[in-house]
Amino acid sequence: MNYRDVARGCLIRASAMLPSNSEEILRYAALELRQCLECLIYERAWCYKSVLSNDDLKEWQPSRLIKRLLEIAPYADKGVRLTMASTEDENDIIMDETERVLSRKELSKHYHKIGSYLHASFNNDLEPIALNTTSVNKTLERLSILLDEVINSPIAKLVPKAGLFTFDCKKCGERVGCEPDYTVSEFNLHCSNSKCSASYEITFDAVNHQLNYRPDKVSATCANKDCLNPVSIWQRDIKHGNTFTCGKCGLLNIIG
Ligand SMILES: [Zn+2]
Ligand SMILES: [Zn+2]
Repeated sequence: MNYRDVARGCLIRASAMLPSNSEEILRYAALELRQCLECLIYERAWCYKSVLSNDDLKEWQPSRLIKRLLEIAPYADKGVRLTMASTEDENDIIMDETERVLSRKELSKHYHKIGSYLHASFNNDLEPIALNTTSVNKTLERLSILLDEVINSPIAKLVPKAGLFTFDCKKCGERVGCEPDYTVSEFNLHCSNSKCSASYEITFDAVNHQLNYRPDKVSATCANKDCLNPVSIWQRDIKHGNTFTCGKCGLLNIIG
């Protein structure tokens, strides 16, 4: 069993129920489509499993998961175009397909909306109100068309695996990674462990066509005038009230 098969099953069951004049049936259809959306987001995350941290993998909320995924892989919610030409004649295109991927925008537009159909609704006087079946049918119908496009995309699950840039965090040891964005020469990357404050300056070396990382730290000295031991502090630790203990004289330094 894989996510796409589960998603396809959800869509088939929902489509068999639509359209309907029954509120109960529409709720079941919405439930199936919500699970379908979840499966497609989890499948996307699964494609990028090698660069997601253990913390990220515990995230089940689709909107948070895709937000995190896009921090690491800015193109993860966009389809890849695959073109193949004949070896004899480069103008003889034998394949030209673009992957249809569910975007973050589409997810946020639909996920909460259909989630709202699963709850009992009431008006300002706390009286129960019925679902507007005409509008719900329309919304679910539109979503079904979109999900059908994604599930039946001519190409799927293409990830530039070989190009993923990863290294171990110098502070906590967690795997940090990103999908290289060669259009910018420098960007900042936070450690994927939410409890770790390390961050890195990532620079693109255009000559050797490779990415380099440098811990984002600042230099300081111990506040003890008789010590003045040089220390380096992670940029994200520089917050009013944070402390560090000098390794030489043992003084507890407070960042002011
Ligand atoms: Zn770390
Ligand atoms: Zn000191």
